[in-house]
Amino acid sequence: MFSRNTKKKTRFSDFLTGEYARDYINQDTPYDAQIEQAAALIRDAEYVLIGAGAGMSTAAGAEYGGKFFEEHFAEFQKIYGKGPYMQDMYSAGFYPFPDQESKWGYWSHQALLAGADLDVTPLHKTLLEALKGKKIFLLSTNADHQFEKAGLPAEQIFQTQGSYNLIQCKRGCHPKTYNAVALFRQMENERKDGKIPSKLVPKCPVCGRDMEMNLRVDNYFVEDENWHAAEDRFSRFLSECKDGKTVLLELGVGFNTPTIIRFPFEKLTREYENIRLVRLSRSKAMVPANLGERAVGINADMARSITDISEKLRGCEKE
Ligand SMILES: [Zn+2]
Repeated sequence: MFSRNTKKKTRFSDFLTGEYARDYINQDTPYDAQIEQAAALIRDAEYVLIGAGAGMSTAAGAEYGGKFFEEHFAEFQKIYGKGPYMQDMYSAGFYPFPDQESKWGYWSHQALLAGADLDVTPLHKTLLEALKGKKIFLLSTNADHQFEKAGLPAEQIFQTQGSYNLIQCKRGCHPKTYNAVALFRQMENERKDGKIPSKLVPKCPVCGRDMEMNLRVDNYFVEDENWHAAEDRFSRFLSECKDGKTVLLELGVGFNTPTIIRFPFEKLTREYENIRLVRLSRSKAMVPANLGERAVGINADMARSITDISEKLRGCEKE
């Protein structure tokens, strides 16, 4: 107990270091051998720190644009035109909605589809099942709670960029967020021509300003009590796994926000002899050459690579 308490904690802000590697390579080891390597590293590890980016939700089946958007957002395309915005859930979020009634008419719909009502957990479950017996923690830039829905306890999750379930004061005037799923459902039911009734428009209970989704898009993002508690648990886990056999398992992290998972994972692997990096991505699994055999980067359809690695791990367990 004492050793844990006296151990120097790494704050999240200290963790966020590292830079673009100048020696990225796509490893040329054949796929099957890479799966074998990745499974062997994980099998051997006591700690697995999962770092999940947007590619993980996509690999698991989450859709944001294309036919899915046409199907579920036709109402908004009709009102606002397809233009540059109404193409997918990411771009549409930036549409300059004319008023709060329209803004929440759109956002309540997206928040439910991408958050509370999204269920693409089979792949997440496969992975968690295969990692049974390991000490696991998840660092995620996704706001969709899919690992939690798949059964990973909330205490083992640090979702750094916010949540589709929460709203906050637009100017972040006080450090609180509010669960708005029930309100979103009410908005969804009462929306007409893209707008919600004025009586449903949320206002900040402290300063009276408009509210926003609790998603990190600017400096007004609110890091509430739960966020800080998760940061604390993450820091504690990080301190522990620096001393043990650890695999950093990176899933679907590209170069959109590489400073949160990608670069720090590379730096940790470089600095700690006992840490290994397994990087899975559809096409961005290049790894720094100087990590040598301590890093495995697998460019492949992640639904396939995660399933293959999980099968190897489970196969071993049965023997
Ligand atoms: Zn406020």
